[in-house]
Amino acid sequence: MRHITTHAAPATGLRGVGDTSWHTRGACHGMDVEDADAVFFPLPRDHEEIAEAKELCGWCPVRRECLDFALENGLKEGIWGGLTGAERRPLHNGLPRRLDYRRVTAFFQGRDVHLTGAERQVVIDHAYVRGWRPDRLAAALQISHKHARDLLRQAANKVLDRDRNYGVPRPKKKRKKTSKAKGTPTPTAPGTQQPASRPVASAPAHAPLGKAA
Ligand code: SF4
Repeated sequence: MRHITTHAAPATGLRGVGDTSWHTRGACHGMDVEDADAVFFPLPRDHEEIAEAKELCGWCPVRRECLDFALENGLKEGIWGGLTGAERRPLHNGLPRRLDYRRVTAFFQGRDVHLTGAERQVVIDHAYVRGWRPDRLAAALQISHKHARDLLRQAANKVLDRDRNYGVPRPKKKRKKTSKAKGTPTPTAPGTQQPASRPVASAPAHAPLGKAA
């Protein structure tokens, strides 16, 4: 068997699409159906029931999964993850703009996680940069081959536009060395010139050391 190690840690705490196994670990699991209905689907002024539901959710170990489930499936009624429908409304409205890179990473690790429109777009752009073929993207996103091909084409155009607008640094060209003619003085950079050497007067072979006698 061949083992491949990477530095990418597996994404944790992300519920897979269609995974409802968390529900059996919920604090409300096993409640009588009618009681659960009254407590978790109260009317706005049923303050006692709302307080009871929030108390249960407060110590529930799968509170996060429960909230994600409601958001990702567009469940706007009832209490999920300790939040009423009114309290969840801003979260529902902001969900399409969620950009959680843990989910993008989990997707490329082969996990079947819920992706918002923004996260899905990042996946498509990365798939193009990674050189994915349309059939691979189609299988991963469970879309048609033609749709995947169009999405990769749009990603390619986006990268092209980005390069046009912002410019891509080009590799520096190597300058060819020109052959110097013999005797041509080498140009020196300003400020680095050496003083010209002066001819030194040749001293007499026997210079007089003192006055002539
Ligand atoms: S967070 Fe609340 S509604 Fe969700 S599973 Fe837990 S107890 Fe039930």
